[in-house]
Amino acid sequence: MPELPEVEAVRRSLAPFLTQTRIADVEVRRPDLRVPFPRRFRARLVNQTVLSLTRRAKYLMAALSSSETLLVHLGMSGSFRVDSESVDRHDHVVMHMSSGAVVIFNDPRRFGLMLLLTPAQLARHPVLSRLGPEPLSSDFDAAALARACRGRKTALKVALLDQRIVAGIGNIYASEALHRARLSPFRRGSTIATASGAPREAAERLTEAIKHVLTTAIDRTSRTYRSSRFRVYDREGERCLRRRCGGVIRRRTQAGRSTFYCSVCQR
Ligand SMILES: [Zn+2]
Repeated sequence: MPELPEVEAVRRSLAPFLTQTRIADVEVRRPDLRVPFPRRFRARLVNQTVLSLTRRAKYLMAALSSSETLLVHLGMSGSFRVDSESVDRHDHVVMHMSSGAVVIFNDPRRFGLMLLLTPAQLARHPVLSRLGPEPLSSDFDAAALARACRGRKTALKVALLDQRIVAGIGNIYASEALHRARLSPFRRGSTIATASGAPREAAERLTEAIKHVLTTAIDRTSRTYRSSRFRVYDREGERCLRRRCGGVIRRRTQAGRSTFYCSVCQR
């Protein structure tokens, strides 16, 4: 499933083909993905110019000249590519740009989502309005993380997956950041904050680790998941990569998801 770095990489690769470019035509090849496409979807897209392509958590947002926003979630298997023509039966939305570029949304499992929202709908959309700070923004720092984790009795990794604490962190990068920060996934969320909610040193380390693993992942150009990309994720039974640690990466199920960690260097 794409996480924040993959979605940001998609945004960066698509932006040159979409922004300040008019949508000349759209083929919508089925009635729905996860939910039906918006009413009059094609008519509301054709002849609009894409003003900007931004990202919030794992959502892509294309601002249109009509003032509506095309909101896209890739779901489990959604992807975009820019091509000269569409040849795959899972190409569900094909956008012909005025430049001649063909921007294709492919989604074999169809858990993707496309919505068209007015500015008012965008401002109060439930999935967006409940999101915590963007992890790579200056709003997200050790103080903000500690404040959000204050008094949390849930495990620290489970807290990181809570989108109200920090937006866009999924199973992979929660494990990765905790290993870099040398913090056990199983300690309580509250342990990174003082009783009054001020950041302990662990909160400083974790904030730095989150920003580092996300930035590094975005910078990788390959969209292919390879286990060698990760510090702990999908490396059960392999050696810990931390110098002189000597630990072995373990996997444990936590809140229904696999957590990968080193029991030696993560405390
Ligand atoms: Zn280790």
